[in-house]
Amino acid sequence: MNRTNALIELDAVTKSFASFEVLKGISLSVKDGEAVCIIGPSGSGKSTILRCINGLIPIDGGRIRVGEIEVHKLRSEKEMRPLRHRVAMVFQQYNLFPHRTALQNIMMAPVQVLGHDRREVEERAHRLLAKVRLSNKADAYPGQLSGGQQQRVAIARALAMEPQVILFDEVTAALDPETVKEVLTAIRELVDEGLTCILVTHEMKFAREVAERVCFTDHGRIVESGPPAQIFDAPQDPRTREFLGQVL
Ligand code: ADP
Ligand code: MG
Repeated sequence: MNRTNALIELDAVTKSFASFEVLKGISLSVKDGEAVCIIGPSGSGKSTILRCINGLIPIDGGRIRVGEIEVHKLRSEKEMRPLRHRVAMVFQQYNLFPHRTALQNIMMAPVQVLGHDRREVEERAHRLLAKVRLSNKADAYPGQLSGGQQQRVAIARALAMEPQVILFDEVTAALDPETVKEVLTAIRELVDEGLTCILVTHEMKFAREVAERVCFTDHGRIVESGPPAQIFDAPQDPRTREFLGQVL
């Protein structure tokens, strides 16, 4: 199905929970190195799109491809493994292990899941902490860190798996306003370095500045997508206009 040069491709993806159709035919392609933002009202299916891409929930119809991996064909955890290595996800709730330090949180998966050399992983973990500007917090426990700092540890933890793609699901939604910026700055730097990512966000200013493309979702459909300037300054669909009227 690799008809395009896109790294991620969703083709007419449908998904229902019981009789409720949450995704009603989502088609989306993301190129290598591209940053795409998904915006839209609560309940419109944004998180479900991300969870389908990384195989957390099976889809009912359509196709999803990440690189050469046909996600909709994966049936077991074992078959999912190559996908897990390629796609990382960062959530609103950072879910750090409370009894592990920042450094240990970052090291766990590369050591335990990938079986990488502990020394090398530790060196890389220190570099990643520096990247998210938390070098001085290596030995801090999550409870000793602010929400923004914990979220930056969670981003470093995702990067430690050396993914090709990171999916960000409203990663600043639970943060105090004063720590939102430091997390967005960290993400912006990753985007500038060419990391492929899909970001679900309510930060419209950030979406405008960082995304190459913005998709507006409503009731399980991508109603409209295009460059940020087009979506924010000249939205075509009345639903997009209404949503932006409420949030901007
Ligand atoms: P968004 O992220 O845009 O707020 P979601 O993708 O989380 O929306 O959810 C879309 C809809 O699907 C919501 O109505 C939600 O209640 C429903 N939904 C999501 N996950 C489940 C689930 N596991 N079981 C039942 N309904 C779900
Ligand atoms: Mg959501």
